Amino acid sequence: MSAHPSSAAPSRHASSGGAAGSPSEAVKPVLAIHGGAGTILRSRMSGVMEAAYRAELAKILADGERQLARGDAALDVAIEAVRRLEECELFNAGKGAVYTADERHELDASVMDGPTRRAGAVAGVTRVRNPVLAARAVMEHSGHVMLIGPAADTFAFEQQLERVEPGWFGTPQRLAQLRVAQASASGQVLDHDGQTLAAAAATPEAPLDERTKFGTVGAVVRDAQGRLAAATSTGGMTNKRSGRVGDSPILGAGCYADARVAVSCTGTGEAFMRLAAAHEISALMRLAGQPLEAACRRVVFEELPVVGGEGGLIAVDDQGGVWLGFNTEGMYRGWVEAGGTPAVGIYKDE
Ligand code: ASP
Repeated sequence: MSAHPSSAAPSRHASSGGAAGSPSEAVKPVLAIHGGAGTILRSRMSGVMEAAYRAELAKILADGERQLARGDAALDVAIEAVRRLEECELFNAGKGAVYTADERHELDASVMDGPTRRAGAVAGVTRVRNPVLAARAVMEHSGHVMLIGPAADTFAFEQQLERVEPGWFGTPQRLAQLRVAQASASGQVLDHDGQTLAAAAATPEAPLDERTKFGTVGAVVRDAQGRLAAATSTGGMTNKRSGRVGDSPILGAGCYADARVAVSCTGTGEAFMRLAAAHEISALMRLAGQPLEAACRRVVFEELPVVGGEGGLIAVDDQGGVWLGFNTEGMYRGWVEAGGTPAVGIYKDE
């Protein structure tokens, strides 16, 4: 990934800003993933923790590359990448999700298929092991787009998805993080990152930096046939009020795909919702004729800050262009194209 002041853009979309000019047939399938954005500073990240994040991202990308190379559909590749991120407790989605104020987990997820604009989402689920699979099931089998709360869990079980006990999602680090958030003056904390987790576990009395980390996970894909898809999943924000829903399951806010672009976001959900951030990128491309990079940069660096939005996003377009960027200190992220080697980044100077 090329160096960039505040975002990391792959060479295919280097700072020249143009979309990949190749005809779509010649463009290789591509997968991009994120594991959350925030204040991720080298100085506060242990070497072991950093290596763990990088290894996990690279592994998921390598497996996604195999799927892309054998011609899997964009939707399948995006959902599988997010399912894997949900399974990894380093990230705030599925296992390892953050706690609500009343020490529970309420998980949100969404999926969207670009060519058909079919979509599915769940919010506030507490028992289905993989919320992203529940979102897919909603899309494919419910006749609806979004289900919430216990009814969404029940629906997922009817679709034979795996059930776990609510406590299964928790980890000691996340609980320590909750305690820190509850002890802090401002209460609600948007986060989970390596250094914050470590700090929380080591010194639970230390106040958490609210600007630290947004830990949602997501994937965007352009497959061999030029189809686009996006998937996003999250535990939300540490110490959130029970019933709070952020942008991640809201189509057009934290997740969106059409025939032109697929987007997955991470950050202060309320701001992304107010901006309809993911859809805004498509609108800028469609209505203002902006190329992918210009549209993404405008949303992340100009429009989001106006409504207090901190975070980032990943996006792919129908030409195979990729953009991964953020207005925070870092974002766990990576991308790979079929036949290529995964590129992984954490900090903003890589
Ligand atoms: N966007 C998520 C939310 O507001 C948080 C995150 O990205 O970590 O629920």
